[in-house]
Amino acid sequence: MSKRFDLVILGSGSTAFAAALRAAELGKTAVMTESRIVGGTCANRGCLPSKNLIEAARIVYESAHPRYPGLAPAKMGIDFRALVEQKDEIVHGYRKKKYGSLLGGRISIEKGHVRFADPHTVEVDGKQLFGEKILIATGSRPTIPPLEGLVDVPFITSDLLTAGEDAGFRDLPESMVILGGGYMALVLGEMFRRF
Ligand SMILES: Cc1cc2nc3c(=O)[nH]c(=O)nc-3n(C[C@H](O)[C@H](O)[C@H](O)COP(=O)(O)OP(=O)(O)OC[C@H]3O[C@@H](n4cnc5c(N)ncnc54)[C@H](O)[C@@H]3O)c2cc1C
Repeated sequence: MSKRFDLVILGSGSTAFAAALRAAELGKTAVMTESRIVGGTCANRGCLPSKNLIEAARIVYESAHPRYPGLAPAKMGIDFRALVEQKDEIVHGYRKKKYGSLLGGRISIEKGHVRFADPHTVEVDGKQLFGEKILIATGSRPTIPPLEGLVDVPFITSDLLTAGEDAGFRDLPESMVILGGGYMALVLGEMFRRF
């Protein structure tokens, strides 16, 4: 027996929430599905945590490189674990405040990995969800390139800022090699360089 919705959304990131809210405004029912953490990349491991730590790194950098001739450079001590903990607290607080009040009523969420059963039905954690429409909003994740030897060494990806998952990154490395030179590499590279 499947639960019926006007809109079934795969994922619970920014795209999913925007669609679910619009559906609710139109008087429709919507359900999101999520295999990781509710809120997706931006809130949990992307925009929010990165901007929080990037700002801390900026303060460290500007103390060492003051813009005014009358200010002497100062080297700040860095407790990276404490910085990560406050970042995690901010993410958890945001999640509670923002998503707690949105869910319920016309918008609900089912946790688990989703798969299609037929063109209008998906299965999540043993439950069947029927959607008049189905929206795929599963976002993206870092590609692990087929590089020889990579499977034999520990490595991190741009998912490193995740809060509440095992992949969370807690210690500042002494040095770092970044494979890739896109905006993610630049913005995270600058942050680590400044720390
Ligand atoms: C470090 C970093 C910094 C960033 N900074 C910015 C920024 O400053 N500004 C900006 O605009 N963007 C930024 N981004 C990009 C931004 O986070 C993404 O573009 C945005 O989150 C994508 O939203 P989405 O809803 O499409 O997907 P996501 O937020 O990724 O959500 C998709 C969700 O679907 C879930 N999912 C996938 N497959 C399944 C499945 N089979 N079953 C159930 N659930 C599934 C995933 O677990 C995920 O939670 C940043 C990203 C990173 C990594």
